Amino acid sequence: MTAASSLDRRALLRGAGVLGLGAAGATGIAVAGRPAGAAPTAERKGSVPAPRVYGTAEWGARPPAGEIEVLDRVPRYIVVHHTAEPGNSEDHSLTHAMRVCRSIQRFHMDTRGWIDSGQQFTNSRGGHVLEGRHRSLEVVHDGGRHVVGANVGGRNSEVVGIENEGLYVTVDVPPALWDSLVALIAWIATRYGRPVESIMGHRDFNSTECPGEVLYGRLDELRRAVAKAMGQRGPFELPLKWPLLRPNDAGPRVRAAQHLLRARGFSDVPTDGVFGPATRRAVARLADAHGVLPHSCTATLRASADERGYLGSDIWPLLTATTARPGENADVGAAVETLRRAGGRLESPGGLLVRRDWQRLLSG
Ligand SMILES: [Zn+2]
Repeated sequence: MTAASSLDRRALLRGAGVLGLGAAGATGIAVAGRPAGAAPTAERKGSVPAPRVYGTAEWGARPPAGEIEVLDRVPRYIVVHHTAEPGNSEDHSLTHAMRVCRSIQRFHMDTRGWIDSGQQFTNSRGGHVLEGRHRSLEVVHDGGRHVVGANVGGRNSEVVGIENEGLYVTVDVPPALWDSLVALIAWIATRYGRPVESIMGHRDFNSTECPGEVLYGRLDELRRAVAKAMGQRGPFELPLKWPLLRPNDAGPRVRAAQHLLRARGFSDVPTDGVFGPATRRAVARLADAHGVLPHSCTATLRASADERGYLGSDIWPLLTATTARPGENADVGAAVETLRRAGGRLESPGGLLVRRDWQRLLSG
């Protein structure tokens, strides 16, 4: 058990004792509740209409294979995923959406070995919203607690995840899916009292394509749309992010990454600005050395994207965690210069670079 999950466990035990709303059954589901008499926090928050969310009983979910963990606090982030499989179906019916949910749950339980669906919610291409992991619906409605899922590696105690049916690497989401996603997130954010800045994509945490280049590219638009649905006005402070680099990508950011890999001791990596096999091997070895596991996001067995060696949000902090100033290490200096020439900004040249310096440099 990791330190984080032991903390979660303590939070769970501390809050245990209040009975849940008709879930349990034969599976012995533990429930973490508020102290008696405490008002649900959501009651004090703004009103956004609750979307129609089809519960696990309505789409014929299997019972969970273990205890659903419920934490006595709200999650920090609302995370957007794509299912990749079953692809971009033209069947927009509720029947199809329910079938997708059963298929995801089967894959997550029987192949991944999880106790239940990994995501808290599923959003279909037809705009139907369904509960994923058991108890997610009642717990979000209640507003003060969090059902721990399995959808963002290393961060599940702090994220509520939405699987959007389809693959959005090169094509856009259907309008119905977009509208239901806005409504669902506006409701979740309101119940949890979270700002729109807490809306993230899966790749903001793990080195994965998910939720696809096109849908990921619309996240700022999504934050604005959710804010509007919540009756809020900007401007919003949008988070700095790390870019995702993949094999066959090319350009100054790849070249900078190659210099940083060399600065970390991977001296066989070329600095040609092309994400080739040697670069990919070095990234994978760096991930292994720090215990960073690949977290490909696929909802069924058929999609087995190999994202090992992708360079994303969980790798950049390792790569840029250097104690060398640009003037003290030739490769660190070359990385900085490469990014500055490409338009990256650096506020205090010559100093020790911290996370936001690198993020600004990389966003050029
Ligand atoms: Zn994902």
